[in-house]
Amino acid sequence: MSRIYLSPPDVGTAEVEFVLEAFEANWVAPVGPHLDAFEQEFAALVGSPHAVALSSGTAALHLALRLAGVGPGDEVLCSDLTFIASAAPITYLGARPVFIDSEERSWNMDPALACAAIEAKARAGRPPKALVLVHLYGQSADIAPIQACCERHGVKLIEDAAEALGATYGDRCPGSLGWAGIHSFNGNKIITTSGGGMLVTADAGMAKQARFLATQARDPAPHYQHATIGYNYRLSNICAGIGRGQLLRLASKVTRRRAHFRAYRQALGDLPGVTFQPEAPWGQSTRWLTCLTIDPAVAGRDREDVRRALEAADIESRPLWKPLHLQPVFAGVETHGGAVGERLFAQGLCLPSGSGMAEQDRERVIATVKQAFRAS
Ligand SMILES: *Cc1c(COP(=O)(O)O)cnc(C)c1O
Repeated sequence: MSRIYLSPPDVGTAEVEFVLEAFEANWVAPVGPHLDAFEQEFAALVGSPHAVALSSGTAALHLALRLAGVGPGDEVLCSDLTFIASAAPITYLGARPVFIDSEERSWNMDPALACAAIEAKARAGRPPKALVLVHLYGQSADIAPIQACCERHGVKLIEDAAEALGATYGDRCPGSLGWAGIHSFNGNKIITTSGGGMLVTADAGMAKQARFLATQARDPAPHYQHATIGYNYRLSNICAGIGRGQLLRLASKVTRRRAHFRAYRQALGDLPGVTFQPEAPWGQSTRWLTCLTIDPAVAGRDREDVRRALEAADIESRPLWKPLHLQPVFAGVETHGGAVGERLFAQGLCLPSGSGMAEQDRERVIATVKQAFRAS
């Protein structure tokens, strides 16, 4: 029996065709027809007028924050329960993150806490420059109330949809409502380019500036001319080819991951103390990862007992994200709330959820979790 991974790449033959096409036309370069097509197809899919393909989701967020005017001394509100990449680019720019706790309904940023923080800072004459709103594990946050608050106080809303491609918020896609949105095509995400990201926006000027900064901020001149410092952040034409192939099967990947969730919940939902991540009423989650919590007071065992039992059976599972305010590198950073994320981290577990996972492997995960609940 081979190891079952949390969320490995799921790549088909269309990807190979696109990549071969790039080789045959000698477009093995950081520009090319796949790059343009990938951007257009992606923009159409998420309903965003402009998309800029980049080397990672982190790079996309860095560019969005810089173009929002974030600089030294500024404050940027950010979801607390998330991967460090949501906040690291804030510090690249010399700005200060301020963390906002989750709400129970979606595990995403609590709109009431976020609005209270924005209003208090605005009253003090120092509204935050931007807000990074994360959509966790395929579930959209409640965007509208946060967006309204941001708009009232001139705060640029940047959506981190790295984990939420294919999800819905009403009839929209999370990532396409704010001033800017970012996506990730890392190897573990719902689609992959082996590594890559996308910046989406309705602001044409912003998209143009992002392309400019992502290619070393080169001014129009026959020689190399630069009036500002940029980055080398573009996605390659080869990786864009992989992305085009992946995009063709996004819908079936969502269906597959949701099927994993349903099977897990049906088989494990009645175990004592086990609760699955809720699906908020405002949209459909992709269930990028199936996440559950285990209340040790009810279950008689904790998340780590179950995680270790899975590991012993050569099955990869992971605790939920550790809240950023608990990370040593962010010790002492201003945080609003924190108890919800702390509980989710203490009790939460992500189960193998890859769109390529066979039913037989899923059954092995289920049997191992059940066994962990039988053992004393
Ligand atoms: C994966 C991820 C990122 C970063 O994307 P990369 O492409 O790996 O740089 C950012 N935010 C969240 C929430 C993520 O899960």
